[in-house]
Amino acid sequence: MPLKSLTINGFKSFADKTTIEFTTGITGIVGPNGSGKSNITEAIRWVMGEQSAKSLRGSHMPDIIFAGSALRPALNRAEVKLVFDNHDHALKTAQDVVEISRRLFRDGTSDFLLNHHNCRLRDISNLFLDSGLGKEAFAIISQGRVEQVFNSKPEDRRTIIEEAAGVFKFKQQKKQAEAELAVTNDNLNRIADIVSELG
Ligand code: ATP
Repeated sequence: MPLKSLTINGFKSFADKTTIEFTTGITGIVGPNGSGKSNITEAIRWVMGEQSAKSLRGSHMPDIIFAGSALRPALNRAEVKLVFDNHDHALKTAQDVVEISRRLFRDGTSDFLLNHHNCRLRDISNLFLDSGLGKEAFAIISQGRVEQVFNSKPEDRRTIIEEAAGVFKFKQQKKQAEAELAVTNDNLNRIADIVSELG
């Protein structure tokens, strides 16, 4: 499931539409301090569903939109697009090329797109579950994250291991099934009450 390209438009320091193509081998991005290298990895985490403005070094989500500079005004919209080669179908979808996009406007409205169709954050999260990718996955290690893993509580570390082992997805599905079962049991109880009233 190689990453083919990343397009950033209006996200943090990337006021102009910028596309990074990832060819085979290793891609290294170098630049002086403050030139936007970390913003690139943050753009990747954001398009994969990051919901915490704090973990993107902001206080609220619109902080990720280009805020203006001495030479140009602020923008009203940020958009990030990630394209994967999915010929190996590591992402559980029939498409051979998977394109995900996320847009955010300054008024707070936002949307996700999966292969050009509007989708929910949950569809994006489900797509990456167990793939080794995703906003919480360890394919992306930001500065300070290694220490954070070492210093995390045992329960949190267990979640990390479960995600890596592929157990996490089943736990999520179990939780969802249990919630549905609880609703069904409530309905059954209600029907039993009605039946006893009628009898
Ligand atoms: P270092 O090597 O020091 O870690 P870096 O290359 O990783 O630096 P980043 O931290 O990615 O750099 O980029 C920081 C730059 O992004 C700063 O110049 C900051 O002003 C700019 N920046 C962050 N948010 C915005 C925004 N919303 N609008 C415009 N510029 C922004």
